[in-house]
Amino acid sequence: MNDSVSINRTGLFPRIQLSLWISFALSVTVIGCQEKPKIVISNLPTFSILQKENVSRHHSRYTHPIRYQNHHEHISMGDIPPSWIPASPPRPWRWIVIHHSATEFGSARLFDRAHRARGWDEMGYHFVIDNGHGGRDGKVEVGSRWVKQKWGAHCGGTPNNEYNNYGIGICLVGNFSKKLPSARQLRSLKKLLIFLMQRYHIPPSNVIGHRDAPGARTACPGNAFYRYLNNVLRPELSRQILLVKNR
Ligand SMILES: [Zn+2]
Repeated sequence: MNDSVSINRTGLFPRIQLSLWISFALSVTVIGCQEKPKIVISNLPTFSILQKENVSRHHSRYTHPIRYQNHHEHISMGDIPPSWIPASPPRPWRWIVIHHSATEFGSARLFDRAHRARGWDEMGYHFVIDNGHGGRDGKVEVGSRWVKQKWGAHCGGTPNNEYNNYGIGICLVGNFSKKLPSARQLRSLKKLLIFLMQRYHIPPSNVIGHRDAPGARTACPGNAFYRYLNNVLRPELSRQILLVKNR
């Protein structure tokens, strides 16, 4: 009988394996895509200049067509959770920055713990959308900084810290370099995006992937998800926003 068999019989092995997996998930998460919070700077370039630059960045990439399912799915906007509407005065949000956790396992509680362990104030994202491994698939978790309408800590290293100061950070749990988020995650994301875009007057061109932020050196939110964002999600958001405006 070798050691691993005897450990397994005592029931220790699954616990050791679980704790190793959680440690691994935490460590990968921390080095995934979050970046250190920086001091808020108020002197910023104008909105129109930033928007123009960003439109040209998006449209210069990924022009080849890709087929996706649920392309024209109708998004119901009924029943907006009260927790999405903070009591604090709103920040002048200009961007929505989409991230992946680059891990299969995660939740707001786990990310909050990992970020605090690094000496950060609290979880860097404003929202987390779970994938069923750490939280219910498609569940939108509201971060503590959203309640306070506090600047983000998810998109550092950009000029003037623009995308932390004025960017709402949404992290989808999962690694989307080769696959897309689950159907439930995507449905929740679309509903959340449309809500935020309407409420804070954010145009579709300002809904970006982490890698789009100038100066951000990351593959986040993963190649497959990034292509979906450009080829499917942003065009769909444009149509949805137009529909709402024309109603
Ligand atoms: Zn990221």
